Amino acid sequence: MSELHKFLFEGLPVRGMLVRLTDSWQEVLRRRQEGEPFDAPLRRLLGEMSAAGVLMQANIKFNGAVVIQISGDGPVKLVVTEVQSDLSFRSTAKVVGELPATDNGRLPLEVMVNVNGQGRCAITLDPKNRMPGQQPYQGVVPLHGDHREPLHDLSEVLEHYMLQSEQLDTKLILAANDEVAAGLLIQRLPVTGEANLAGATHHEDDIGLNEHYNRIVHLASTLKQEELLTLDADTILRRLFWEEDLRKFEPMAGPTGPRFACTCSRERVSNMLRSLGQEEVDSIVAEQGQVEIGCDFCGQKYVFDPIDTSELFTDSSQTPPGSTRLQ
Ligand SMILES: [Zn+2]
Repeated sequence: MSELHKFLFEGLPVRGMLVRLTDSWQEVLRRRQEGEPFDAPLRRLLGEMSAAGVLMQANIKFNGAVVIQISGDGPVKLVVTEVQSDLSFRSTAKVVGELPATDNGRLPLEVMVNVNGQGRCAITLDPKNRMPGQQPYQGVVPLHGDHREPLHDLSEVLEHYMLQSEQLDTKLILAANDEVAAGLLIQRLPVTGEANLAGATHHEDDIGLNEHYNRIVHLASTLKQEELLTLDADTILRRLFWEEDLRKFEPMAGPTGPRFACTCSRERVSNMLRSLGQEEVDSIVAEQGQVEIGCDFCGQKYVFDPIDTSELFTDSSQTPPGSTRLQ
C-alpha cells in the first residue's frame, strides 16, 4: 500500500518525510499502458515527480492543488504531477519526439526535456476555493544551476527551488521503477521569531544547528536508490538514523495516504469545449461525426455526439436541474 511517513529529529530544527508509492504509482502506469506507454527513462522521471509532489504537498500542507511541471524543448515537452491536499495525485507527460536509447533506463533531464537549456520547472499552488480573479501562486526555476550547468536530476531542480523560493535547505532523494516510486526529504526548519533578530550569541547556536543539519543530510545521502526502492520505511530510517533521536509519526496510508485519483469530469471537458467556441466544435463534428476527448491523466474517454455538442452552446438556463457547472 502507498504510504507517507513523517518524522523529526528530537530537539533539532530538522524534519523529514519518506514516501513510498506502490499501488497508486502502478495505477498511473497501468492506465498509460492502454494508450501509448512511456519509455523507461520517462517512467522513472514521472515516478520521481509523483513521489516528490506528494512530499511537497505534505510538506507545505496547502489547501488546494500543488502542481509540479517540468517543460522544455526536448523529446519530452512536459511532465506534470498534481497533488491535492488529501494526498490524491495524478501524473502525466507529453512526448513529442523520440528518446535516445539507453542501457540502464536512465537519461538526464538535459537529454529528455532541457535540450537547449531553456527548460524550466514551475511549482503552482492552486487554492481550493479560489476567489474570482485570484491567481494561483507560481514559482519558477530553470533546469540549470547558478553557473548555467545543466541539472541532471529532478531532485537537484527541486532542492534548488526550495532554497530559492522558500529559503529552505532541503535534501531530496528520489527513485522510481515500474513497481515503486519513492522519495526521502530532509529539511531544515526555518528559524523563526527572536532567534533571527538576536546577535552574536545566537550565531554560535546557528553554527551548531548547521552541524546537526549537515550531519543528518550526510547520513541521508548514503541512501542508495536501490535501497529506497526495496526496503520498507522503518528499515530505511533505522539504517540511516540509528544514532539519532528520531520521533516518528503515525504513517499516512490507505484513505488518508497518497493514492491515485483523477479530477477530470464531463463538466470540465464541456467547459473546455465551450471555450473552444461553437464554430470550432461544429467543424470537428462535421469532420468526425462526434467529439472524443481522452483525459491525459487517467485515460477516461469523453464522447460528445452532435446532440451533446449543440446542447453545449444553448443558454445556460436550459441546463438540466441537478447538473453542476464547474469552471
Ligand atoms: Zn482523468
